[in-house]
Amino acid sequence: MYTLPALNYAYEALEPHIDGLTMHIHHDKHHQTYLDKLNTALTNYPDLAALSAEDLLWHFADRVQLKTPIDIATAIKNHGGGFEHHNLFWEIMSPNGSREAVGDLSAAINARFNSFADFKIQLIDVATKHFGSGWAWLVLNEKKELAIYSLPNQDSPLLSKHYPIMGIDVWEHAYYLKYQNRRPEYLEAIWQVLDWQKIEERYQLGLKK
Ligand code: MN
Repeated sequence: MYTLPALNYAYEALEPHIDGLTMHIHHDKHHQTYLDKLNTALTNYPDLAALSAEDLLWHFADRVQLKTPIDIATAIKNHGGGFEHHNLFWEIMSPNGSREAVGDLSAAINARFNSFADFKIQLIDVATKHFGSGWAWLVLNEKKELAIYSLPNQDSPLLSKHYPIMGIDVWEHAYYLKYQNRRPEYLEAIWQVLDWQKIEERYQLGLKK
């Protein structure tokens, strides 16, 4: 059984950028529901449940789809994605942290996107234009190159063996209480609470994956 990770900071710690009520509902209700539905889907598949959620998605094509009926595979894709993406999301934010890329990731961003400022413009643009629910991602692709794209719903880059370094949730549940239809304001607010030290740690994990 997977379990809900606690936040490493108080629900209100990201205010005024991300409000406490949104954090409560997002973590305690939405994330919890993805978790519950994932655990239900895996009830009769203990060998799959023994994998980390990251590996469950990473090996989706070669293990999960082969071992489970289509409806359960779909539940694992949707709710496994929802569970793992939110694990990542809480981890890469913090009330105080590095607000610009550091270390090897900083060098890689500058090499790939010209500068951190240019990278931000591209990522925010992709997140702004994403139609409907989904996530904007910075990933390491199969060649271990950085790439920016968005995916719908809880479709995971991990399904394509792309390692998600950071992601921004653009489901309306992530911002509607405070920002209503103003997604660009939410994206600017999220940018203020990203912790690039944590994102650098994910970059190092991705290089080794
Ligand atoms: Mn969400």
